[in-house]
Amino acid sequence: MRSIAIINQKGGVGKTTTAVNMSAALARAGQRVWLIDLDPQAHASLHLGLALEENDPSTYQVLTENLPIERARYAVDDNLWVSPAHIDLAAAEMELSGEVGREIILRECLSRDQESFDYLIVDCPPSLGVLTLNALTTVNEVFLPLQPHFLALHGLSKLLQTIQLVAKRLNSQLVLSKVVYCMCDNGTRLAGEVISDVEEFLEHESNSKSPWSRASSFETRIRRNIRLAEAPSFGKSIFDYSPNCNGAADYENLANEMLRAHLSGQITSKAA
Ligand code: ADP
Ligand code: MG
Repeated sequence: MRSIAIINQKGGVGKTTTAVNMSAALARAGQRVWLIDLDPQAHASLHLGLALEENDPSTYQVLTENLPIERARYAVDDNLWVSPAHIDLAAAEMELSGEVGREIILRECLSRDQESFDYLIVDCPPSLGVLTLNALTTVNEVFLPLQPHFLALHGLSKLLQTIQLVAKRLNSQLVLSKVVYCMCDNGTRLAGEVISDVEEFLEHESNSKSPWSRASSFETRIRRNIRLAEAPSFGKSIFDYSPNCNGAADYENLANEMLRAHLSGQITSKAA
């Protein structure tokens, strides 16, 4: 199973939109996909039509009450399952603050799970707290969504530092594998400059021993598309809401890139 956390501690960069529509695209391509929502705002859950009642099983009970994770996993479409979040999850950070091993609770829950999937995708909150740490200890890869504007790189060093520490202390498998450019406006000079800064950085780091030394950007860039912003309020992925829009085409292409990379064994051969 390929396991990926979608992380950027900045809000509004396209994490949830990417987590949801990438998951939906992979599921449509025949992959078994499990999306875990670790953001108390529950946007990914709502985006896929899961609005929980007060005591419905969610990732909150999984992290704080030891609920078996399969009890908080719902089928939302062919090949697509979601473990939803609830606003209660906002309290988890504090509730877990005194607990030994609080960064690896999710990983332990998954190790007890019997079901198998092709892809695990984790949507993270806009912070680097205990919820995001649980994602980082569970997955093998991080995807970093970036909106190519002038503050895009602000705060990135903190994120990289966190990935590095987790890789060193808690999860030696962890790498930053992909950058996804989201909400791209075609051809603005600033966007071009931000993207070339990122490319230069990745190129420069390719000889380092860091967890991002093999990172690269998706060729597919997600264009700004109003349909992508409308779909969540209908509780539908972009493919059910507006299958012929640019947003659907972009996320389908993104998923195809992932599948091609997987097939050609790019990841394993690069790792060798
Ligand atoms: P995050 O999860 O990082 O906070 P979201 O995915 O929720 O970011 O995106 C922030 C806002 O921008 C949401 O209202 C979302 O619908 C909108 N949005 C995301 N991607 C696009 C896009 N490519 N085009 C237009 N709107 C987008
Ligand atoms: Mg979000």
